[in-house]
Amino acid sequence: MRRFRSLFFAAPVLAALVFAPVIVLAAPPAGHGRQAMPEIRPAFRPARAQAGGVMTVSADDPPLSSVLMKLAVNDPVHSKALLGQALLASPDLPPVYFRLAAADLKEFPGGLVSGFYYAVRGFESYARNWWWAMDLSGLAGVSLIASFFICLFVTVCLRLPRELPLLKHDIAERSRYFLLLLVPAVSAFFGPGLFLASVLLLLGIYFPRRDRILVLLVMLFAAFMPFVRGWVNGVYLVSNPQMRAIVGANEGIDNSLAVKALAGSGDFAGLFSYGLGLQRSGRPSQAIVAYSAAIERRKDPRAYVNLANCYMFFGEPGKADELYTKSLAIRPTAAAYFDLARLDRDSLDYEKAGALYRQAANLDPAGLSQAFMDREGKEGGRLLMDDTLGMADFYSIFDKTRRGAGQGASSVLLWSVLILWLAVFFYFGKGGRMRAFRCSRCGRILCDRCERQPYWGRMCGDCYQSLVKLEARDPKKRVARLLMIHGSQLRHGALVRALGFAPPGIAYIYGGSILKGALMLWGFLFFAVAAAANPLFTTGLGTGRHDWLGAVSAAVCGLLYILSFVGARRRQGRQWL
Ligand SMILES: [Zn+2]
Ligand SMILES: [Zn+2]
Repeated sequence: MRRFRSLFFAAPVLAALVFAPVIVLAAPPAGHGRQAMPEIRPAFRPARAQAGGVMTVSADDPPLSSVLMKLAVNDPVHSKALLGQALLASPDLPPVYFRLAAADLKEFPGGLVSGFYYAVRGFESYARNWWWAMDLSGLAGVSLIASFFICLFVTVCLRLPRELPLLKHDIAERSRYFLLLLVPAVSAFFGPGLFLASVLLLLGIYFPRRDRILVLLVMLFAAFMPFVRGWVNGVYLVSNPQMRAIVGANEGIDNSLAVKALAGSGDFAGLFSYGLGLQRSGRPSQAIVAYSAAIERRKDPRAYVNLANCYMFFGEPGKADELYTKSLAIRPTAAAYFDLARLDRDSLDYEKAGALYRQAANLDPAGLSQAFMDREGKEGGRLLMDDTLGMADFYSIFDKTRRGAGQGASSVLLWSVLILWLAVFFYFGKGGRMRAFRCSRCGRILCDRCERQPYWGRMCGDCYQSLVKLEARDPKKRVARLLMIHGSQLRHGALVRALGFAPPGIAYIYGGSILKGALMLWGFLFFAVAAAANPLFTTGLGTGRHDWLGAVSAAVCGLLYILSFVGARRRQGRQWL
């Protein structure tokens, strides 16, 4: 039966594991061209097309994809076709995928596979879009911290009336327990979080053995808390105009901001992005100055490639050839191979060009096909592949900003206190016979100092005589005690049953299945807080919000609620809670 129960819990996880590969491997749905596409003449170039081209106009207008997404909302008949075009314009934008997924999932069951396909692709696109990934990580950090606090507070409140009298009993009878009061007193200096955690630690001494893992988990999380907090602060610190400009230029979203905001940059990333912005807004001579300055800071192969592309614009293939070769000598990139292949093609050396194309394709097949696609859309212009900074470069800027502001994860003092508290916990937690406990029948608090006798199943003397040593008791008193026990059990049962309607886990925590209950409550709170904070906490840099979060949160919270409600009923039926 126990095995069956754990299966009940594991079933959703197993289902997800089984279905995930099926969904990922599912062929791209043929839905793109199913509907007649309304004629849309973009007045400006799609965002991605700039990324591959050398000289294109700047995009001061709003990105095409966001215009198309707005149109899709107002035009339900053509919404899927419009979203499909938005996807072509911005293949790295998560909300486009999720809106397509939602549109497909509405056509249940026909759109199920393609709906899941777009959802998976949507999650993948987070890895290609810096602000969206940052934004999501900041939101996750905020809800992790908030849900931890709320869950800890609720657990302490629910357990305090049960465990505090036991601690009082021990403090009154054993002087060394008095020292335990130092734990919350000292912790209070570290803030409310650690204070709450230390109260849980004291109560945890009286938890059933398996539920004491909760104390360890809480202490572990407290140790990581400075890192999570530092990360969240870093996300908001790094959302400055310079970073916006750097990411905007390199992700091919906004060149004009880079030209405006990065003019005075002194570091490599700033100068490189400034050069990219200038180059793509048709100012190659200024771009040459910026790239040369960037190369003085760092001999980066990508700067050489873009510099060479600028020289190509002025018709200096000799100079460009030299720079491409220099770039390849530092570290081969797809762009350097691709552009050098163009040079060889121009001088009619097709064999060498073919070999270089193959090498480019080995390094970055997706980038190469994008570059060829861009060439299709070009009107006669020479096309070269620019190199750009990526997620790893953005992350190192983020990390530098975070550390510069003292948001690192060094908290030696906190960790030493936590280790000391754990030592205290293990010292007082061992030797269960020594501590106060409740009579398993009537709930009276006692310890081996108050009552010296063999305890059968942790019973007080009165209950033992009434239930086990029947002959030693006057029958009238026995019946009275049995009725008293029955009455208190009924009251407890009614309360647990009522708490079954409360948020998931609360009935478990109150009923004594503390670890399981706290984990359920924490999971519930994490998703609930994330969904609630989704529109509030934002760097203001992603366009739109994480649309999928509402649906995922509702599903997880609903599932946890049902599991907790049904579970509490079943366990209570067997008098486990
Ligand atoms: Zn008793
Ligand atoms: Zn006692």
